[in-house]
Amino acid sequence: MKISPVEQLFTLFNETALILQEELSCTFLEAIAETGENVFQQSLLQDELSELSIKRLKKQYEEISLDKFSNEEIRKAFQLVILKGMKETTQPNHQMTPDSVGMLVGYLVQKFMKEGSFRLLDPAIGTGNLLTTVLNQQVNKKIESVGIEIDDILIRLAYVNANLQEHPVQLFNQDSLEPLFIDPVDAVISDLPVGFYPNDMRAAEYQLKAAEGHSYAHHLFIEQSVKHTKDGGYLFFIIPNGLFESELAPSLREFLKENVIVQGLLQLPLSMFKNKNSAKSIFIMQKKGEGTVAPKQAMLVDMPSLSSAAEMDSILRKIDKWFLENKN
Ligand code: SAM
Repeated sequence: MKISPVEQLFTLFNETALILQEELSCTFLEAIAETGENVFQQSLLQDELSELSIKRLKKQYEEISLDKFSNEEIRKAFQLVILKGMKETTQPNHQMTPDSVGMLVGYLVQKFMKEGSFRLLDPAIGTGNLLTTVLNQQVNKKIESVGIEIDDILIRLAYVNANLQEHPVQLFNQDSLEPLFIDPVDAVISDLPVGFYPNDMRAAEYQLKAAEGHSYAHHLFIEQSVKHTKDGGYLFFIIPNGLFESELAPSLREFLKENVIVQGLLQLPLSMFKNKNSAKSIFIMQKKGEGTVAPKQAMLVDMPSLSSAAEMDSILRKIDKWFLENKN
């Protein structure tokens, strides 16, 4: 049986990462970053490997030439091997953004961002899966991307992921809620980390700080993202469905009313999530600026299922109709 390009690449990443994991006594996720870097640089970058491992690794790397694969094949194979690594350790807030969600965000970015070139920020880039899913869908556009991530292993994976797919991405390994030294962007995408932000001193600098106790990281992420977006720029967030139901929601509403125009809310299918409380939506807004006008009606969509082609098709038609009526 013929194996698919994604399987072929997955096998390469997986088997070489297993060898490196043992040789370097590191985690599987770290070993994926190591092997990804080897594949990209086309050389063995680790010192002190045994003769046998050098031979085995070289043999595997020589069998594959990256330029025979599309970006989506590379991204999917890399995603699968990371998913395997994440099963061992990762906490829910570090999880990769699933393909179906990334594809939808990519579709929306492509519809909203009409310019031929723009700057795009993901302030919680994680492994870069969401960002590169979105980038792979923007055809004939010149995009300068910026990614920020607090976790040093995830940002290494994002770095290797972007390199393998040849996407230029400027990366910062830092807390996104600390001051950011980046130029304003035209669009933000982010699968927001949800929960309390432990640094009360830093939170105190935000309008959306809690009056008492810890603030919500996801609220502060929204404020920080709006701050770094150009007037008229768009923001696409994956948010928990309960965003507007918490006790801190009134100040968030107030902030949004002052600073952005809500463009749409797409509720993702409940079947994608463990339970109702962990369900999410895609929230789209535009930063207010000269000439920005509110849509006649916000795009409100309840996604049925992302796996049924017919249902997906009907939703995409509904979204297209919304664009015709509101954005032309
Ligand atoms: N979209 C990412 C992907 O496809 O891999 C996954 C994003 S994940 C849901 C949220 C990310 O936010 C995690 O990688 C986490 O480490 C990061 N994060 C949490 N708090 C952060 C902070 N204060 N500054 C920067 N990154 C943070």
